[in-house]
Amino acid sequence: MIRDELVMFCHCDIAGQTRGKGFPVKHLKARLASGIGWTPTNIMLTSFGPIAEGPWGPFGDLILRPDPATEVRVDFEDGSAVEHFFLGDLLETDGSPWDCCPREFLRRALDALESETGLGLLASFEQEFTYFGAQERLGSAYNLDAIRRHGSFAEVFLAALDAAGLACDSYLPEYGPRQYEVTLEPAQGVAPADHAVILRELARATAQRLGQRISFSPAVTPEVVGNGVHVHMSLLDRDGNPAAYDPEAPHGLSRKAGAFIAGILRHAPALCALTAPSVISYLRLVPHRWSAAWSNLGYRDREAMVRICPVNEISRHDPARQFNFEYRAADAAANPYLALGAIVRAGLEGLRRELPTPEVTRADPETLPEAERARHGVARLPQSLEQALNALESDAAACGWFPAPLLDAYLRHKRAEIEIMAGLDRDQRCARYAEAY
Ligand code: GLU
Ligand code: MG
Repeated sequence: MIRDELVMFCHCDIAGQTRGKGFPVKHLKARLASGIGWTPTNIMLTSFGPIAEGPWGPFGDLILRPDPATEVRVDFEDGSAVEHFFLGDLLETDGSPWDCCPREFLRRALDALESETGLGLLASFEQEFTYFGAQERLGSAYNLDAIRRHGSFAEVFLAALDAAGLACDSYLPEYGPRQYEVTLEPAQGVAPADHAVILRELARATAQRLGQRISFSPAVTPEVVGNGVHVHMSLLDRDGNPAAYDPEAPHGLSRKAGAFIAGILRHAPALCALTAPSVISYLRLVPHRWSAAWSNLGYRDREAMVRICPVNEISRHDPARQFNFEYRAADAAANPYLALGAIVRAGLEGLRRELPTPEVTRADPETLPEAERARHGVARLPQSLEQALNALESDAAACGWFPAPLLDAYLRHKRAEIEIMAGLDRDQRCARYAEAY
């Protein structure tokens, strides 16, 4: 049969969906320079069909310009269509950045961090998902047999990541039924967020080739443990040397990393609106689900909002280069650029104010007396998307992180999502999100 390769130029939108437009591969060279046309209202597309009401309606035009560094061309060699796509930026037709471009939001946050503090960020997204093609077996968490029971998925997926130039750090069967986890090696700039999007798409592409379904939804059913996204971070100075580690400081956390984390915890409720942005995200952010439920810093504690990760002392790798902390209150309904950009902005607030390193909680915050929680600034995270959006709106500093049109579009979009879910029970909601993510 005759075939012509299709190339897609895409971006990740407010809903966390990868959307774009395509053309025949023979026009790639010209298109790389000129981009492809895009529509402002597309950013109001929800994951469930309806378009949230935005300011643009049918008016306006944009350009989606690809970043050549993001090119993915994966031939699964099974006769199926080649996966060929790029991620890029949304520009006005004169080439200036569009206020609502999520990738630009992250770029500006990183630029502000760099110019004000001289610090760069090294980050990696650790992502969990449910592979519906896996055969369930009771008690198969972390079991070698759970790998066997999802057939050739891991092999094909890892080959696809490799073909796309993404370096896999680890892959494992997780605790939940048919749940798996994959982590990439860290990167700088907007690349960690690009990689998070590419990874999800290649996981979906792999499942599709194998005739199976996959979901990164934060809660595929109300009862099972959630699919989290943990954002691992460390800081670098201008010379590229590690700046988050201080072997003399408690738990190895440098003053700067401590201030960065203090900023994150101070803006925790507002951050949840960006990092846990679905109605069902709040089924996951509850105590004793190994996700995050309180605005606390933990040392090797897998229920802390920010967790100081361990250093492997038997490895030959420099502890300063291994050292990192992870933000655990995120999931894959979030746009990775908006999520990481907001985390960086919150961290920068902490650095500007030279906030002291937060005290590490040593016990489950639920068991601590209220007064002690208050003394450490530990509070329960928002318990619904509505609460998180209200927290964002009433956090003046957080509102200032966004160009006004982006904040407005974001709040309208997410409130429309709440309305779409209003008439559905928990099972129905989870089913919708499982399909959409
Ligand atoms: N599934 C847990 C979550 O929702 C994370 C488990 C872990 O990797 O520690 O974040
Ligand atoms: Mg995990």
